[in-house]
Amino acid sequence: MKIKKRSWAEPFKIKVVEPLKMTSKEDRIKSITLAGYNTFLLKSEDVYIDLLTDSGTSAMSDYQWAGMMLGDEAYAGSKNYYYLEDNVKKYYGFKYLVPTHQGRGAEHLVSKILIKPGDYIPGNMYFTTTRLHQELAGGTFVDVIIDEAHDPENEHPFKGNIDIKKLDKLVKEVGAKKIPYISVAATVNMAGGQPISMQNIREVKEYCDRQKIKMWCDATRAVENAYFIKIREKGYADKSIEEILLEMCTYFEGIWVSAKKDCLVNIGGFFATRNKKVFEEGRNLVVVYEGLHTYGGLAGRDMEAMARGIEEMVQLDHIKARIGQVEYIGNLLLKAKIPIVKPIGGHAIFLNAKKFLPHIPQIQFPAQTLAAEIYIDSGVRSMERGIVSAGRNKVTGDHNYPKLELVRLTFPRRVYTQAHMDVTYESICEVYDKRKSIKGLKMIYEPKYLRFFQARFERLK
Ligand SMILES: *Cc1c(COP(=O)(O)O)cnc(C)c1O
Repeated sequence: MKIKKRSWAEPFKIKVVEPLKMTSKEDRIKSITLAGYNTFLLKSEDVYIDLLTDSGTSAMSDYQWAGMMLGDEAYAGSKNYYYLEDNVKKYYGFKYLVPTHQGRGAEHLVSKILIKPGDYIPGNMYFTTTRLHQELAGGTFVDVIIDEAHDPENEHPFKGNIDIKKLDKLVKEVGAKKIPYISVAATVNMAGGQPISMQNIREVKEYCDRQKIKMWCDATRAVENAYFIKIREKGYADKSIEEILLEMCTYFEGIWVSAKKDCLVNIGGFFATRNKKVFEEGRNLVVVYEGLHTYGGLAGRDMEAMARGIEEMVQLDHIKARIGQVEYIGNLLLKAKIPIVKPIGGHAIFLNAKKFLPHIPQIQFPAQTLAAEIYIDSGVRSMERGIVSAGRNKVTGDHNYPKLELVRLTFPRRVYTQAHMDVTYESICEVYDKRKSIKGLKMIYEPKYLRFFQARFERLK
């Protein structure tokens, strides 16, 4: 037989397995009702394929696990810290490192150091914890992403790009002095894992230099962004992921990172900078909130695993398979005409719930509803990224009504196989077939901050 295509498969083999509990539909209806129709409140043991998040859910390699045994659990000056410092310098290019327990610990410190009350922080679409820390420090976040990012049908290859006209409008309105830095995310999680191009970063940098505005980067997913630059942007096809990541970082004064994503660990984060003054303040503040500056809330073994994860994250075979898996299921869904955000992003597939369930108005939480339905069908856990996640307006107290009403299926790194992808794909098709019979939800409990984590719902009759 003549073979038409050559498949690829995961560039690793499985050494340890974690058995999963198989549940019935009746079990799952019981579980989701108890969880108030919020997939965050499900017990993980009741979940079959867990696509809630790729945060801290990566499978570590044997090399990382071996490193865990080399943890130097000294309170001060652990050798794992120095190894991590070396690798942050080598792969991201920043001289100064402040480790934190996870990404939001770093966001907290950076926001506290750089933002004064009354400041404005422009950024390419908000991220939940990032924006909240900027607001808690007294700042106001302003979205300056290109319009294409808000259109789930638009196939712009770099939907994470910044609209310099929007940025300039803000600068003219409030003055550059009120803008401590521009908060550049690479990739943009909330836009669907969409990358920013090197060219755009370069142009924003030129603009910011003229206005004397600093640039900081949320580099949590910068390796995924680097891969998209390699395959989509002219001039980068022959560059290595390492080279692209290093070039990206040269444009920023500093970065903050949740190591629970690209860096392939279950816990950890850091901020890194070339500004010695910011570093010194951070090294001082971290002691108050996280732990001494050579561990920042982490065990020595965690820092070792992170340092080794950084070496693995830039390997082309790894990142190609990681994004390839997302593309694999994304292309199946596109072929089946299921409405998803295009183009397919780096870490997740986003179902367009407004199109999937057009008969459910936004105030009845279509994305929250859809996530619950998929769980009931197959035990696949996803999450809402829509009106629940967007929270309430600080001034009016009304819901924010985001343009995008999405269900996110996020893929842990190196955890699931293509067979798991097939099961997930088939379940989404099944729910799509019976979409007209699905009813919306009503919120019956609402916490004050980041409500999507703990809000509870009831099904409308
Ligand atoms: C996860 C994430 C964060 C927050 O990091 P945590 O480790 O969850 O505290 C910040 N920014 C982006 C883009 C993220 O994906």
